[in-house]
Amino acid sequence: MNKRGKVLIVSGSAGSGKSTVLTPFKSGEIEPFVFSVSATTRKARPGEVDGRDYLFVTKERFEEMIEKGELIEHTTFNGNYYGTPKGPLEKQIEEGKIVILEIEVDGAEQIMSLFDPNDIVSVFLSPPDYKTLEKRLRGRGTNTEADIIERLERAKVELEYSSLYKNILINYDSRANDVTEAIIAITKGENIKTPDIYCQSKEQLIDKFYN
Ligand code: 5GP
Repeated sequence: MNKRGKVLIVSGSAGSGKSTVLTPFKSGEIEPFVFSVSATTRKARPGEVDGRDYLFVTKERFEEMIEKGELIEHTTFNGNYYGTPKGPLEKQIEEGKIVILEIEVDGAEQIMSLFDPNDIVSVFLSPPDYKTLEKRLRGRGTNTEADIIERLERAKVELEYSSLYKNILINYDSRANDVTEAIIAITKGENIKTPDIYCQSKEQLIDKFYN
């Protein structure tokens, strides 16, 4: 019989570089990591594939999923619903997989209250500081000024939740590989090769962020 798997929660604000850091896991080649595919009511962005990146559903269907207990957690973010389907997650854990949930802080808190802490690895990913975050958000060129300000404000709020996570990692420019490797090491219970990306506490993170 397979050893029971784990849930790997990764949260991080817009501009934390979360999706770059997690890209190597998306190919499914890093065993035993798999991605949980969330349901959402937001519209697909160019290049996103239904069933791979998200299950894109209507508001009515999402509300039916809530009602029927098909989601293990859900939240509202920027006016849209997001949630983690329960069945596939439970099946993958039974199969011994490490299931990556790339979710925001509210959903992360719900998951943490539902699972045995030994079955969860949690990572909060942060940009190094406010200036870098602003530069990254502006550098995308696709966001409006109001959008940028909203994301900056939300990122500040999310920092406050970093204390919920067992691991706080900083994604410095051009060091996404170090973060990916650190996530693998943490999950396997090994030491991180680049301890300088590790933050000891929320206070240390906030100090770094604003200085
Ligand atoms: P985006 O629309 O940019 O893909 O995602 C917006 C936010 O929703 C991100 O912080 C992402 O991590 C989070 N998110 C994606 N799927 C889920 C989910 O199933 N549950 C929760 N709680 N958050 C999610």
